[in-house]
Amino acid sequence: MTGYPSLRRPVASESDRGARDIGSRRKESSDMSGKGKDEALLQRIADMMAAGLETQTEPFPETEKEFGEILTELRQLSPDDLRSKLVISGFVDHPYGPEQQRCFECMYYLVHRKWCDLPELSVPVEPDWWCRLWRI
Ligand code: SF4
Repeated sequence: MTGYPSLRRPVASESDRGARDIGSRRKESSDMSGKGKDEALLQRIADMMAAGLETQTEPFPETEKEFGEILTELRQLSPDDLRSKLVISGFVDHPYGPEQQRCFECMYYLVHRKWCDLPELSVPVEPDWWCRLWRI
């Protein structure tokens, strides 16, 4: 077990962050109509993890190649195969590792929508959850 990811994406410039924030806000706003649906799905995921769903938290993808391999696996799933999506990405319903990493600090997390914006996942998440595709 490594626990510590060594892979880091380049830090976005202030203008990049601004553009991303604006894009995220637009998306969050346009997605508000699906709020009830998101909440139901969030509860379904929470229930699956509370019931003891075992997911693949290791190995953590240390390189872009390993990261890409997990994404490729996810893309091959049927869109309604939520369980496999959670297993392959290593979902847990608590902070993870020595650094207690959380969705909240992940670059894919949309704070106001409580949503994972990584296209291969694209699911509601709680800020204190984590998966092995975590990135900053
Ligand atoms: S990629 Fe993983 S850690 Fe990041 S927001 Fe999505 S579910 Fe959370």
